Amino acid sequence: MSISNLGIVAHVDAGKTSLTERLLYAAGVIARPGSVDAGSTQTDTLALERQRGITIKSAVVSFPIGDRTVNLIDTPGHPDFIAEVERVLGVLDGAVLVISAVEGVQAQTHILMRTLRRLSIPTLLFVNKIDRLGADDQRVLRQIADRLTPAAIALGSATGLGTRAAQYRPFSSDDPAFTARLVELLAEHDDALLAAYVDGGPGALPPERLRTALARQTAAGLVYPVLFGSAVTGAGVVELMAAIRELLPAACTDASAPPAGRVFKVERGVAGEKVAYVRMFSGTIRVRDRVNGEDKVTAIRVFEHGKAVPRPAVGAGQIGKLWGLAGVRIGDSLGTAAATVDERYFQPPTLATVVVPDRPADKRALRDALTQLAEQDPLINVRQDEAGQELSVSLYGEVQKEVIQATLADEYGIGVHFRETTTICIERPAGTREAVAYLNTESNPYQATIGLRIEPAAPGTRVTFRLAIDPRTVPLYVYKDLDSFRAAMSEYVRDALQVGLSGWQVTDCLVTMFRCGYSVMDGPPSLRGPRSTAADFRKLTPLVVGAALRQAGTVVHEPIHRFHLELPADTLGAVLPALAKLDAIAHATAVRGSVCTVVGEVPAARAYRLQQRLPALTRGEGVLEMAFDHYRPLRPSARSGRVTGGAAGTAGSGRRYTGTA
Ligand code: GDP
Repeated sequence: MSISNLGIVAHVDAGKTSLTERLLYAAGVIARPGSVDAGSTQTDTLALERQRGITIKSAVVSFPIGDRTVNLIDTPGHPDFIAEVERVLGVLDGAVLVISAVEGVQAQTHILMRTLRRLSIPTLLFVNKIDRLGADDQRVLRQIADRLTPAAIALGSATGLGTRAAQYRPFSSDDPAFTARLVELLAEHDDALLAAYVDGGPGALPPERLRTALARQTAAGLVYPVLFGSAVTGAGVVELMAAIRELLPAACTDASAPPAGRVFKVERGVAGEKVAYVRMFSGTIRVRDRVNGEDKVTAIRVFEHGKAVPRPAVGAGQIGKLWGLAGVRIGDSLGTAAATVDERYFQPPTLATVVVPDRPADKRALRDALTQLAEQDPLINVRQDEAGQELSVSLYGEVQKEVIQATLADEYGIGVHFRETTTICIERPAGTREAVAYLNTESNPYQATIGLRIEPAAPGTRVTFRLAIDPRTVPLYVYKDLDSFRAAMSEYVRDALQVGLSGWQVTDCLVTMFRCGYSVMDGPPSLRGPRSTAADFRKLTPLVVGAALRQAGTVVHEPIHRFHLELPADTLGAVLPALAKLDAIAHATAVRGSVCTVVGEVPAARAYRLQQRLPALTRGEGVLEMAFDHYRPLRPSARSGRVTGGAAGTAGSGRRYTGTA
């Protein structure tokens, strides 16, 4: 049985959720399609999503199409959640991009399509809502050709547009106009096909030959088939399923190769334990396997026939839920042949805001509620300032504030408002230094010896922890074995690195423990003392980390977004100076007819301002795509982190927050 991991992506309201329900219904997984409007769908899990009719979290549902198992991974549609979209796209074999036949191609559709093309994801375009008043198939086809891709081809047409009776009619293989269009498109990347056509005319190419070429080029991301339909009446849905089976590729299912998978979602199970959603690219991970040296997999569920069912292993091509991986994070690669993870797909949140309860008495309840929310969505990092007075959350964009505000009000009855949005910087060590605290010395109040070396590592590698000590110096009466000691020390070190010299998280470094020691009641004088405890190691670690960091020094880096801007060419003269004012750098500018494209980078601190100013500068026609790109040393002149409001604020100075989650 073959497997395809597919995503349905769409601009908000295009009908992604409704289409998912329709597909599940058509595949016989659910008895009747749920309704977004009645709040009864399979994939919208959060109450908020149900109320607002938007989908925020991705979830997996699976269904069979003939001999193929399709795992459908729901993706969010709002640009503020583009990080989540990209994270999911990276694990897909193919996608269906839904476009509304009424509203047509939107700015967000454009952004999603660019991302799909950039990642070379095979994609079908489904023009939805043909039953709705105002549906216009020809206009949407023109928009697709002009704004999304010249390599799109309609596989059929819509009849009865704008009425409940609207239907999708696939073109027949002996339709000469369709065949000519298809051959012309496919011949661009298929010389043999072109030659056969030139030699013998359309008759020389049997329909099967064209379908195979179409499937091959769709799988290669060279051609984008277009279908029409309605998620509400079900028109075109059966044909869409056939196209998924025929034109989108199946996953590689080589279960005997070395294991490689990628985590694209992490959630908490009923008992509060971490559950990782993993896409396997090759090989097999079994229960009790140790992945990446540390955690042991304790249970596995694999998505089959609409449900996640308990299984002893998850193999190539499949999507599994894995229990037992306490240290796992979204974006992690698992397995010995760890899939090459392109860090660009996994953007960190670059903004933060302080959440203030409307009623001061709600402060405690607010902290508990935010901590719970952060657990559901590990990307919402909750932090508390040192004095315990303020709570801040990390964000991808301004809209997330609205979502958090509504959730707190609806689910916890807590009204909140927000302070200005600031950027989240990071610190990287400036050099390699070490520090040791010896047992039974005056400056060390704890019953432990710890020596740590901190050195800079490559950007994007986060924190790596290693032991380089004599195992006999590890207190095995405290920690079960060397592995448990390594795991515990690694956690203490990571905790200590949460707050660097300037108050930001320290990252991209290698920490090596090169000295260890514990006290023994009747040992030699240098080791004599009350038995060491885990608390001694836990409390001493931040002191040693701090000492090493102070010697090494750190460099504060600010997040930089890359942007891709399309605008009317005659507005470029006004846009370029505005970009310069926002500290943005334009790397390349290209003019094609009346449309101009600018590619460049902008500090995340200025990104929102750019978004806000763009409509006025471009008569509302500018389309801006932005995503986190890299961290850059903070320049003293750019010390402003304030995102809302016009004036510069202070970001890099003395904001110390510690994690509460
Ligand atoms: P999503 O935001 O992309 O998940 O879109 P939804 O599935 O939530 O649909 C948004 C709205 O459009 C809802 O009110 C749906 O009932 C409606 N809708 C979705 N698909 C269709 C369709 O094919 N025809 C009609 N008439 N309405 C649709």
